[in-house]
Amino acid sequence: MKRFKDYCAVLLAACFLISAGCDAKPTETTEETTPATTTEATVTETEPVETEKSYPTVEIGEEFVIKEDEIYKLNVDDEVYLRCNFFDTTRDYITLFLEYNGKDYYAEFDKQDDGTFARSKSCYNPYPLTLVGLEDDGYKVKFEKKIDIPPLVEAKPSGNKDEKYTVKDYEYIETKYSVIFLDKDITVPGNIAEMVDSMIEVTQEKIGLKYTGKDDEFPADTMHPEFIYLGCAPFEELDVPKSKARIYFIKDRENKGWVSCATARTAIIIMSDLYESELNYELAHEFTHVIFEANLGYFSTTLTEGLAVYAGHAFEAYAGVKTDVFYSGDYIGNLDKITPDNASEIYAKVNTGEDGPARDNHYAYGHMMITFMFETYGKDCLKTLIDKLSDIQGDNFVNNYYPSTEEQISMLKAAYGEDFFKDFGNWYKDNHKRPEFNR
Ligand SMILES: [Zn+2]
Repeated sequence: MKRFKDYCAVLLAACFLISAGCDAKPTETTEETTPATTTEATVTETEPVETEKSYPTVEIGEEFVIKEDEIYKLNVDDEVYLRCNFFDTTRDYITLFLEYNGKDYYAEFDKQDDGTFARSKSCYNPYPLTLVGLEDDGYKVKFEKKIDIPPLVEAKPSGNKDEKYTVKDYEYIETKYSVIFLDKDITVPGNIAEMVDSMIEVTQEKIGLKYTGKDDEFPADTMHPEFIYLGCAPFEELDVPKSKARIYFIKDRENKGWVSCATARTAIIIMSDLYESELNYELAHEFTHVIFEANLGYFSTTLTEGLAVYAGHAFEAYAGVKTDVFYSGDYIGNLDKITPDNASEIYAKVNTGEDGPARDNHYAYGHMMITFMFETYGKDCLKTLIDKLSDIQGDNFVNNYYPSTEEQISMLKAAYGEDFFKDFGNWYKDNHKRPEFNR
């Protein structure tokens, strides 16, 4: 099932930094790819650029070379300054810092296979910057015309689930539990607000955990709604209370292959014809990642994906729909081989991606393990794990605990007993042929 493989493979790559928890720590990834996080602070802490008036001025469309430690001012009504903190062409990316009306943005360029640099997805600011070329000691760049940021208006869908609502502008709806952002030109069910709220209720009930309103940052190398629009950030101005989750329905208008993803406060659902029938599943899947990350941080790729599949199926059942895209023969991969004796070994292989091409086994193995956990330890089984993690790691483990696969295995045993994996292996023998694991 190509469709699913595509979805899943990219999901693993882009979706959800939790996934990176076991293989590469999200914080590390962020540091590696974005000096912005560290250097940006420097920009904010130093004297505001505006107080000094002696910077060279450039026009829109004018090519100029910016060298290390230089600042240029753009000759427009807005206050726009471009700063080069360091000159280095040996890396895979180039970052320039841009101040726009007192706010910090940055422009990032990724090295291409042919050695040139192209504006990357994470380049967002209202004045797009083009890298024209590299000089011996500076970057030749030019500013493009400002992107108009369109107004955000309140959506008024009918509320009728049998009607469709086509979004004309950038729109939002505040619901009981969330603020929904609707991208221009997408079509959603007329009852989208009710759908999101019922999804949140069903999901929370099903997995025994709640949305927490935990602070989060968009990790710089994962998808950020603003990245998609290269600074045309229609959703940026809306102030969402922490008590409400942010749910974005986004169109991949440049066909960049965006896939749905989530952080501890935000679920981003990429809308396309391909996924329309899967909206229920996808919504619950991503929102489950939100809850997982808020409660368990970066504990386990396998468990977060498994839980997301589990909750996705539950919301589909609630909604009375069923998609057929989950689990192909390939997807199940090596899972046929699970026994009480090797269940933890296979967990390790699946979790670290050593399971060969069937790395999507995160979903299949995780789904079965999560189902086993709920059926064996009851509906509060994840709270048991969270309590154990808090006991051992402290209350703040969610923010700073990135356990290795071995640590995950020992934490699971600590929470559920030494025979956790053995018991799962036994359960597996009798259960892995169930229809929900073979869709
Ligand atoms: Zn997922």
